[in-house]
Amino acid sequence: MRAQPKASHFIDGEYVEDTAGTPFESLYPATGEVIAKLHAATPAIVEKAIASAKRAQKEWAAMSPTARGRILKRAAEIMRERNRELSELETLDTGKPIQETIIADPTSGADAFEFFGGIAAAGLNGDYIPLGQDFAFTKRVPLGVCVGIGAWNYPQQIACWKGAPALVCGNAMVFKPSENTPLGALKIAEILVEAGLPKGLYNVIQGDRTTGPLLVNHKDVAKVSLTGSVPTGKKVAGAAASDLKHVTMELGGKSPLIVFDDADLESAIGGAMLGNFYSTGQVCSNGTRVFVQKGIKDRFLSRLKERTEKIVIGDPLDEATQLGPMVSKAQRDKVMEYIEKGKAEGATLLTGGGIPNAVSAEGYYIQPTVFAEVTDDMTIAREEIFGPVMCVLDFDSEDEVIERGNATEFGLSGGVFTSDITRAHRVVDQLEAGTLWINTYNLAPVEIPFGGSKQSGFGRENSLAALEHYSELKTVYVSMGKVEAPY
Ligand code: NAD
Repeated sequence: MRAQPKASHFIDGEYVEDTAGTPFESLYPATGEVIAKLHAATPAIVEKAIASAKRAQKEWAAMSPTARGRILKRAAEIMRERNRELSELETLDTGKPIQETIIADPTSGADAFEFFGGIAAAGLNGDYIPLGQDFAFTKRVPLGVCVGIGAWNYPQQIACWKGAPALVCGNAMVFKPSENTPLGALKIAEILVEAGLPKGLYNVIQGDRTTGPLLVNHKDVAKVSLTGSVPTGKKVAGAAASDLKHVTMELGGKSPLIVFDDADLESAIGGAMLGNFYSTGQVCSNGTRVFVQKGIKDRFLSRLKERTEKIVIGDPLDEATQLGPMVSKAQRDKVMEYIEKGKAEGATLLTGGGIPNAVSAEGYYIQPTVFAEVTDDMTIAREEIFGPVMCVLDFDSEDEVIERGNATEFGLSGGVFTSDITRAHRVVDQLEAGTLWINTYNLAPVEIPFGGSKQSGFGRENSLAALEHYSELKTVYVSMGKVEAPY
């Protein structure tokens, strides 16, 4: 087994196994080959992980932010030194092409450690509030033990995007990766310890939807940050609310990507393709409803078809491969069902829609697929598919497309392609979403806040904004005089 870790869990600075946990296998999505055998966490493992995090957190919180930041910056350096090794592991874990993982996965995780490590010294300061002769000050204090629960599309990135702000604020984290992609987070935990992180501050335990609640409902957990689907988000936020725990919810989307007649055609098509086919379409912020203004529609569709049919599908470990398999057979079956629904409900299949011949019959591949003549009421235009399926809808006017773009319960992201910058600002102002792009799509560097509105979630990851979600303010009023009481 080519990616077998030393054990299933990483707790208190070392690999830990408990064979009483439910066994599960990690499969390479390109071939279905078993690459690791693991066990889900038992309640005893959950207890051990939370107890060790709780023990370690107080001392960590008492360190200076600069000292904490130095360790995170060292972890970023190690991740960059081992980028190839980590990217290959990410490719085995997810099936995403090495061409992507080498530039977008460990590197993005390293960016998070570098950014939060770098701002540690200045970003955690409080305020001084003058009150005449008295004054008050605020301190930004950690929450305690934070739980991170990950999805399977960006396992290493998610492990770092949650871990970096949590740790820099002085918290400990217990992270549970998705059961589909259990491997990357273990390496992140190992690297953090190598970088000098005291034991217990970043523990990783394995498990699925039955393990998650053991973490979410635990009395010693102060905060839960989930990346996952809307239905899971509702369950997790509901459970956390019963103890009034802090929550960050990074959930799904069905985002509008709007292309006006005056857009740079090739850029708009490139943006739409990246926003639907990158990571085989398994990206929460994808612009899966591509609204194209009628004047440009024919040219857009013909070039889109041409460019889509040139996408290189193949072995994800081959550097030439541009599109890998879906993460699992279950996800491929789900996406194929949506494709059938699209056809049955009358959308025009412009290209794709099937399983490619060229690659291993055991892999979970799907052709990059484009539907045209999609209408707002079709299932494929309303539900998150989470696969390489682009829906192209057409429109006449700006007001109309804004209204239709917003007609969804999701609100994660959106984009607009136009050469009229005034119109671009007018449109993004009115789109109901957490992150919007003008004349590009899906770029999410660590410097900018990322997160959703409406049912796509709440809280923000990355940027200074993330600090607010992993700490709280303590206010201290200081009197300089005597207390004057009326009794
Ligand atoms: P999922 O909701 O099935 O699972 C997410 C995680 O939650 C997994 O680790 C799973 O084991 C765990 N889980 C499931 N039920 C749970 C419960 N009741 N209590 C606690 N934990 C539970 O999602 P997925 O299929 O792994 O990922 C795809 C989804 O994630 C898509 O909807 C996608 O849009 C979303 N996503 C969002 C973002 C974002 O930043 N907004 C990023 C990536 C993925």
